[in-house]
Amino acid sequence: MPTLNDWQPTQIGLAMAFLQELVIALGRLTTGWLLKDVRRPALHWAGFSLLSGGSFLNFVVSAHAQLELVRLLGNTLFMGALLLQTRGLLLFTRQPLQDRLSIGAMALLMGALWLWPSHADAPWRVATISTLSCLCCLWTAMVIFRYMRHEIVRSRWMASFTLPSLLGAAVLAHRAVMALLEPERLIQTSIAGTSISLTSAMLWVLLSLSLELTLFGLVIFKLGGQLRRAARHDRLTGLLNRHAMDDVLTQERQRARRMAPPFSALMVDIDHFKQVNDRLGHAAGDHTLRTVAQHLRRHLRATDVVSRWGGEEFLVLLPATSRAEASHLAEKLCEGVRRLPIPWGGEDLRCTVSIGVAQWRAAGDTSDALLARADQALYCAKNGGRDRVCVEPTLVQTGHIAA
Ligand code: GH3
Ligand code: MG
Ligand code: MG
Repeated sequence: MPTLNDWQPTQIGLAMAFLQELVIALGRLTTGWLLKDVRRPALHWAGFSLLSGGSFLNFVVSAHAQLELVRLLGNTLFMGALLLQTRGLLLFTRQPLQDRLSIGAMALLMGALWLWPSHADAPWRVATISTLSCLCCLWTAMVIFRYMRHEIVRSRWMASFTLPSLLGAAVLAHRAVMALLEPERLIQTSIAGTSISLTSAMLWVLLSLSLELTLFGLVIFKLGGQLRRAARHDRLTGLLNRHAMDDVLTQERQRARRMAPPFSALMVDIDHFKQVNDRLGHAAGDHTLRTVAQHLRRHLRATDVVSRWGGEEFLVLLPATSRAEASHLAEKLCEGVRRLPIPWGGEDLRCTVSIGVAQWRAAGDTSDALLARADQALYCAKNGGRDRVCVEPTLVQTGHIAA
C-alpha cells in the first residue's frame, strides 16, 4: 500500500483538485437547496463538480493501480461531467434540452472504450474521447454565447465567459491531434501509467476551476439582471415603472435638445376605476389594469415607451411624434380601450380612458413642465365628461363624448 510520500506531484495536485471539487459541489448543493429558481441547474452543476472531481481521483488511483479499467472510468466520468454542465446551462438559460445529443456522445464514448480498451489502442481511444470532449466544450461555449447575446449582452467583456470552454476545446483538440501524430509516445506513457503529465493535470484543474467560476459568474449576472429588471418594472402590469420612465424621459429630452425632433407625451387614466374595485373587488381591478396595459403596449410602435405612472395612470412617450400625430394615436387608443372586452367572472367588463396630450417644446421646456401640461390636458378630458382626448396648449377637445 503506497503512502503519501510515494505520491508524485501530479497525484498530489489532482487529489487537491478532487477535494476542491467536493467543496464546490457542496456549495452548489446548498445553492440549489436555498434558491428554488436555480435548483435544477445547481444540481446539474453539483454533478459536474462531483464527476470531474471523480475523474481527477481516478487519475490518482490509476497511476498506482495501473488499472486500465479505472482510467477508462475516469474518461467516462469526465465526459459525463461536461455533458451535465452543458445540460445545467441549457436549463439555466431556458434553451431547449438536447438529450439525444448527450446520449449520442455517451454512446460514442462507450463505443470507443469497447473498441479500443488496451494500451496499444490508446491513440485511437484518446483521439476519439478528446474529440468528443472538445465538441462538448464548444457546445458549452455556444450555449453561453447564445444566452449572452439574447439576455445580458450589455458589455463586450461578457464574451470572456466563453473563454474557459473555448480554451478547454483547444486543449482537447490538441490532445486528439497529438494522439494521432505521436501514437508511440502515447502508448509508452499509457503503459507507464503516466499518461497525464503534471502540466496537463494542472491545466485541467485550472480549466475546471475557471468553468466553475464561469457558472458562478453567470448566476450572479442572471440574479443581477433580475434585480435590475424588478427595480425598473411594475410587478402587476410588467410595464416600466415611474422610476425607469423618469430615465427614459431624461434621455428623450437630451436627444430632443441635440437633434430637435418633436416628441410627445400621453397621460392615460382609467375612468371611474375606483368603481371597478368597489363593485367587483380588487382582483377585478388588477385584471382590468393588466388588460388595459397589454392593450396599450400592443397598439404602440416598438419605439414608443409606456409606463405605469401611478395607480390607474399610464404615461406614454412617443419619440419623433408631433402633437397632431400624438393626438391621432391617442384617439385610436381611447377608442380601442372603449371596445376592449375584459373577460371577468363569465362576463365582459368594459372600461374607458381619458387621455391628455402634450408635446415637448424645444426652447426652455422641462420634463416637469411637459408632464404638467399633459396632466392639465388630462384634467380637461376628465372635466369634459371622460372617455376622450384633450390636447395642450389650447386644450382642444376631440373624440367621442361619453353618455
Ligand atoms: P377618475 O375617472 O376621476 O380617474 O376616477 P377614478 O375612480 O379612476 O380615480 P380615483 O383616483 O378616485 O381612484 C383610483 C383608484 O385606483 C383608487 C385605488 O384604490 C385604485 N388603485 C390604484 N392602484 C391600484 C392597483 O394596483 N390595483 C387596484 N385594483 N386598484 C388600484
Ligand atoms: Mg381614474
Ligand atoms: Mg388617476
